[in-house]
Amino acid sequence: SRDAGLALLREHALIAGETVTASRRIAVDDPATDEIIGHVPDLGVEETERAIQAAHDAFPDWSRSDPHKRAAFLREWARLIDENAEALGALMALENGKPFEEARGEVAYANSFIKWFAGEAERLIGETQDSPLGHVILTFREAVGPCAFITPWNFPAAMLTRKLGPAFAAGCTAVVKPASQTPFTAIALAELAHKAGLPKGVLSVVTGDAATIGGVLTASPLIRKLSFTGSTPIGRLLAEQSAPTLKRVSMELGGAAPLIVFADADLDLAVAETIRGKFRNSGQTCVCPNRVYVQREVAETYAGKLAEAVSKVPVGPAFEPGVKVGPLIEDKAVHKVLDHLALTKASGGEVLTGGERHALGGRFFQPTVTLGGDDGLFRREETFGPLIPVFPFDSEDEVLKMANDSDFGLASYVFTRDLDRAMRMGRRIEAGMCGINTGLISTAVAPFGGVKQSGYGREGSIHGIDEYVAVKQVTLALR
Ligand code: ADP
Repeated sequence: SRDAGLALLREHALIAGETVTASRRIAVDDPATDEIIGHVPDLGVEETERAIQAAHDAFPDWSRSDPHKRAAFLREWARLIDENAEALGALMALENGKPFEEARGEVAYANSFIKWFAGEAERLIGETQDSPLGHVILTFREAVGPCAFITPWNFPAAMLTRKLGPAFAAGCTAVVKPASQTPFTAIALAELAHKAGLPKGVLSVVTGDAATIGGVLTASPLIRKLSFTGSTPIGRLLAEQSAPTLKRVSMELGGAAPLIVFADADLDLAVAETIRGKFRNSGQTCVCPNRVYVQREVAETYAGKLAEAVSKVPVGPAFEPGVKVGPLIEDKAVHKVLDHLALTKASGGEVLTGGERHALGGRFFQPTVTLGGDDGLFRREETFGPLIPVFPFDSEDEVLKMANDSDFGLASYVFTRDLDRAMRMGRRIEAGMCGINTGLISTAVAPFGGVKQSGYGREGSIHGIDEYVAVKQVTLALR
């Protein structure tokens, strides 16, 4: 299947439906081996401007096209993605390092956004209303305009389709800047979109230096909307750069998700779900539990069971069967885990399992559980790696305060059998999303997004399309 992935690898960008190469190129490696798997062109100001112009030129026809035709296009694109799912999964596993089975799962997840938003294209429904002025008001939901999408490396397919799906459904055109660590999945998806009949100019993928391309995209008055998934500092910078042209902005930024286990919880379920949530993408997702709080009377039991189970989580390269945790994306990511571990130990945390770089070397790290120490660091910073720090707490009020004492508010998780407590926590926790007795909250039909410095805007669900439409009123005077 590795070869199937390589067969989809294209070493060019796509501007206005045409392939673009350059003499200056960026190398992309396999995080498991450091081996270069290919190159993408290092494009800059001129190519980005060309892509923006193409998105602008394609906008009138595309935005006024029959939404049912756009739905049909989205369904054909989804069909081609399903047909190429194995190869796309393999390509993603190669450039990102995530286990192949998981990458294959991401392809299905990514495609579920395209399928969902094909339906939404058919439901761009307006309203009629009597006006107190004696008129009748009609509302239309119109495409906001050409969009810029800047996407991260942790979900190379899904972070793109949850933007492109609603954008195309609404009639928007797009310029995409994929993460330089994982550009090939985006290029392959764009190629399939063109195969499915997407008109030239509606979608461009520009590879190259992020700050340069991001600077041109945000400065352009032709780009009417920016959607970014990535870190909070870069999100803040892009929002600032988007202010002069008053772009509409969606920001899906960092989290520091609390996972709370009450004494009345099903501890085996809590352990299994902690592992499921934490080790997705080897701990590198913005909804991964970043800090686990366990009620004191069960803290030792939960932590013991967790450490036991975590010690058995199979680590290895993407194409080794049964592997659940792969390498981290970069050396820098390994250093961050080491730093967080050192600070936890220095504040009194005890390592229950793992705690070191993995014997496989390179960017592999042992799945790790610690108990105790200071949780402050984990309220402020995402570890983005396979470290689970567990902290005991005493009361519901206390843990709610600890959970909410963070600038971030993306995901949260609560384990309890008490329905009243589940509802109280679900309502009082400061986060855009709360999973109760589950570590898995992401699906195309659920609204995904944060509060506080985790950003704004929602992706997926019946709300996702709202980010790409402007409500237009047409008032008709009746005589
Ligand atoms: P991470 O640390 O997870 O890589 P980043 O926020 O740095 O998160 O990266 C997310 C995306 O933002 C990537 O596509 C990256 O290329 C892009 N990016 C990074 N710096 C900038 C910038 N100055 N302007 C625009 N995009 C940027």
